[in-house]
Amino acid sequence: MYEREYDSRFGSVCPRCDKSDPSVDHTVRYKCFECFQAPPLCKPCILDAHKHAPFHDVHEWTGSYLRKVSLSSVGLVICLGHDEEKCPSAGDARMKMTIVHGGGIREMEIVQCTCGDSQAKGSLALRLWRSGLFPATFIRPGTVISAGALSDFHLLTQTAKVNATAFCTFLRRKTDYWAQDTVKNRAREFFMSFRMYCYLNNLKSNGFDAPRPASGVDPGYELSPGSMAVLCPACPQPSINMSPNWRERDEALR
Ligand SMILES: [Zn+2]
Ligand SMILES: [Zn+2]
Ligand SMILES: [Zn+2]
Repeated sequence: MYEREYDSRFGSVCPRCDKSDPSVDHTVRYKCFECFQAPPLCKPCILDAHKHAPFHDVHEWTGSYLRKVSLSSVGLVICLGHDEEKCPSAGDARMKMTIVHGGGIREMEIVQCTCGDSQAKGSLALRLWRSGLFPATFIRPGTVISAGALSDFHLLTQTAKVNATAFCTFLRRKTDYWAQDTVKNRAREFFMSFRMYCYLNNLKSNGFDAPRPASGVDPGYELSPGSMAVLCPACPQPSINMSPNWRERDEALR
């Protein structure tokens, strides 16, 4: 068990990065156990290696033991759009968001993409969802749920009868096992988001292309009565599973 508690490369100079900038500390101090067989790295390298895995928890070598830290506390900022590169038209403005993902619940900073109609109603919600983050509210989202957490929870409800409160307790405990009360409780936001996610998936499965009226993404879209009902396959349905000439048949045989 102790084999994973220490690495002799801690404290050495990082072999991976460009060390041309003497003002940057290149001492190897971080290791990610969620990345498979990842070497210990310095701060710039661990951030670079997690551009597309921002929710991993990494461990920092304190000099005597490994301490779990979030990538946001190391300095990672999520950039929306542009394949995780910073939007060329975005300034220095960052917004803080609570992110509920399969590994826990974290506060992270986000740089928004300001290209195109970024000020339009619902624009941020759409950009978040394109990045795999489902907003808990579509107007001014402050909490987002990852697509992976929503689909995992959906499967857990089907296979293990897990409810939203239990799932969020698990996520809080996973974020900080010893002090789960210091982790934000987002059970209410998670539950509302999950209901919305299921409803929108239902719309998609029933062939509604997009409940998107002029006001943007508005799930309050009016549906006509019965529009999501499933027709009984055993019952005769004209023009679906009945002869086109059924009216011409003898009434007793219809
Ligand atoms: Zn490095
Ligand atoms: Zn990792
Ligand atoms: Zn942009």
